[in-house]
Amino acid sequence: MNKLIAGLEQQLAQLDAQSLRRRRRTTESPCAPRVQVDGRAMLAFCSNDYLGLAAHPRIVDALQQGASLYGAGSGASHLISGHSRAHAELEERLAEFVAPQIADARALYFCTGYMANIAILSALSGSGADLFSESLNHASLIDGARLSRANVQVYPHGDLDKLASLLAASTADSKMVVTDSVFSMDGDLAALPQLLALCEQHGAWLVVDDAHGFGVLGEHGRGVLEHFALRSPNLVYMGTLGKAAGVAGAFVAAHKSVIEWMVQRARPYIYTTAAPPAVAHALLTSLEIIGGAEGAERRAHLQTLIAQWRSALQLQRWQALASDTAIQPVVIGANDEAMKIAAALYEQNIWVPAIRPPTVPAGTARLRVTLSAAHTAEQVTQLVGVLQQLEQQDSNDSDF
Ligand code: PMP
Repeated sequence: MNKLIAGLEQQLAQLDAQSLRRRRRTTESPCAPRVQVDGRAMLAFCSNDYLGLAAHPRIVDALQQGASLYGAGSGASHLISGHSRAHAELEERLAEFVAPQIADARALYFCTGYMANIAILSALSGSGADLFSESLNHASLIDGARLSRANVQVYPHGDLDKLASLLAASTADSKMVVTDSVFSMDGDLAALPQLLALCEQHGAWLVVDDAHGFGVLGEHGRGVLEHFALRSPNLVYMGTLGKAAGVAGAFVAAHKSVIEWMVQRARPYIYTTAAPPAVAHALLTSLEIIGGAEGAERRAHLQTLIAQWRSALQLQRWQALASDTAIQPVVIGANDEAMKIAAALYEQNIWVPAIRPPTVPAGTARLRVTLSAAHTAEQVTQLVGVLQQLEQQDSNDSDF
């Protein structure tokens, strides 16, 4: 056999041996708690569609209308001819959305959150700069930090004292602190008020990745900055639009000079084809729903489900992490054990993904349960019951 291929196949076999091989399943219906997967009707607790907007009829209509108005593709990057009226309107609406938190705000729309994070870090930090990164940050921030060529220092999860001492010791002209707002595999919130105070004290940017907060947190769904009532020119905010907003893409919001600098320098913005304008058009409806009465009702229902889950779930050996958000992980520990439990859930037509290293630290493989406003209380009760039963069976098995 070809040596290159044989080498890869050997490494894939090693992944299998460690229960680390990742596999995809194919969905055959819109994203919703009741979803058709590989020909099978499943109850899903795995999407990031926190408000249940991914299949919302008004947003689907808007997407179709956007295709009629603008066609299928944008045809070029934003700085050539791909920047449509739909993109421009979306950016204006997003800037209005975050205006209470950021003075003189402007917003920039990106195809994905992954690209937006790389854009922020590589455009606003660079060689000679100090970049302080939370240890549980998302992969896109880690990659952005690498691409920035800054001197990267990782501070332990939630360790503000350590961060304060690193900032105090920094002699760089340019400093940046980078953090997820809601940690994507743990569900807990960063201490943003304290982080912002430190950044202001030390003249550092605070980059906040609110992928899992935008649309969900804050009275009007404006995200974590609204939740904590934060406002500062040091803030650079990233919100994604493929999770709670139900469509696709992401945006960066900051003081208008920051955004203008990114238009000039952010390579993931400049050197890629603009997202289809229809997507931006659909997002206008999504924002309307998030900011209106329906959004408020959906957030309230989600909060009720989170409270129900937290009070109902009683585990003996597995650990439900302390989280008040829609991300409710159950830590199992070993990779093969987490895979076994996810498979047992799947047998009962419940779809919850097992998350393993390197996405989470070794020994903390977990079920990442995500709740959505599209779930019902009965569905949450069902998941709690099945999980508790599986844990019981699991401990009986290991008694032998
Ligand atoms: N940041 C965080 C914290 C995320 O969880 C994700 C998506 N999993 C991203 C950024 C990337 O966003 P997108 O999916 O839009 O690329």
